[in-house]
Amino acid sequence: MPYAWPQDTDFARWELDVLERDCPVCGRRMHICDHRYRHFHTLGGPVELVCKLNHCPDPTCPGHARTHSPELEVTIALPKWAIGWDVLCWIGHRRWARHWSISQIQAELSDRYGIRLSTDSLARYIRHYQIMLAARQQDPSALRRQYESVAEIILSIDGLQPEKGHETLYVVRELTQKRVWFAEALISATAAEVRRLIAQAKAWAEALGKPVALWLSDRQDAFVTGIAAEFPEVPHRYCQNHFLRDVAKPVLEADSHTKVQMRKKVRGLRAIEQAVLKRQGVAASGTAPGDDGQAAMTATAVPADPPGPESASAGAVVLDYCAAVRGILNDDQGGPLHPPGLRMAAALEEVRASIQRDLDEKKGGSQRSNSVAWPVASTAASMTSGPNKRRSEATSRTSRRLPRPSILEEGAARTARGSSRR
Ligand SMILES: [Zn+2]
Repeated sequence: MPYAWPQDTDFARWELDVLERDCPVCGRRMHICDHRYRHFHTLGGPVELVCKLNHCPDPTCPGHARTHSPELEVTIALPKWAIGWDVLCWIGHRRWARHWSISQIQAELSDRYGIRLSTDSLARYIRHYQIMLAARQQDPSALRRQYESVAEIILSIDGLQPEKGHETLYVVRELTQKRVWFAEALISATAAEVRRLIAQAKAWAEALGKPVALWLSDRQDAFVTGIAAEFPEVPHRYCQNHFLRDVAKPVLEADSHTKVQMRKKVRGLRAIEQAVLKRQGVAASGTAPGDDGQAAMTATAVPADPPGPESASAGAVVLDYCAAVRGILNDDQGGPLHPPGLRMAAALEEVRASIQRDLDEKKGGSQRSNSVAWPVASTAASMTSGPNKRRSEATSRTSRRLPRPSILEEGAARTARGSSRR
């Protein structure tokens, strides 16, 4: 469907002439016989391109019937495109290098450049770009240029499942140039199918005239037999990533067990939070704290002042600590080299030290001794078990970024100073 341009579009006018003006048959200078107008978007704004069409003026010349278009037109925009190459490259780069979604690209094109494309045509342009990219990726002459100065080739093969239940995508990469050579989705990765890919890699290496020094893979059976058959002399090593992951398995298992132990020990955040919130609610409504269990817990959890501004800010500090600890307990980032359990232990230790510093400061500032939230946390743990854990998991995604204990201490210090001035 042709692109619908608004009536008031302000086009920049570009003119293109034929460069080779002599008739290819008789050699006479050709005449301009017509003009072709086309419109497309560029990143610089909408363009009206005027193509001057030429033909041989001699009606007896066999070249007379043929009309010549400007040679450079295709370097600005391909026929029937509503965008120039600059826009296509912009779209392709956002899609494949930045992994933007089509709707993101669509919105940004519209907001930033005033280029409005339907999702259908955007998808079509992305497809064009993808085809060109694939053709260039496998272009033998480009590949030869890249490998001119390479002495040896190191190849790797691995199967990836982009989505569960879908066929596995087998990717052959060359590691000295960090380049994907080719990839193919295999519905059934039989030894014969996998060997075909390895043979294809062999053909590529031979076409480049470069020796293969090494193969890397996770050494699944089909790779081992296929590579041994096609590259009998070439060593085949375990991929470092897979190797590390396998070696790390027992480490991560132990780490995971430790995490469970720590989570068992540090519990009851919800009860503390509820107590603080309830107390704050009571303070806001101006009535005395009730005599139920929650309030009793509050009495030990936060300074036993009559509700006032200090106790409110003390409550806020307690809530901040709870949020920090919850985040720590739910943080499962980190791989085998930075086991999450070790991170968790270090972070909890930091919180403990931070609370201790708060306590020390408070002792220095005012002599009133208070029970603190911390010991209560493990006491309360026995009261709230299951639901608390589920709740923590639910909040974990939103509470990834957490205040550092030092920031929490500032709040605690303010509160402590406030209390001691009274
Ligand atoms: Zn002619």
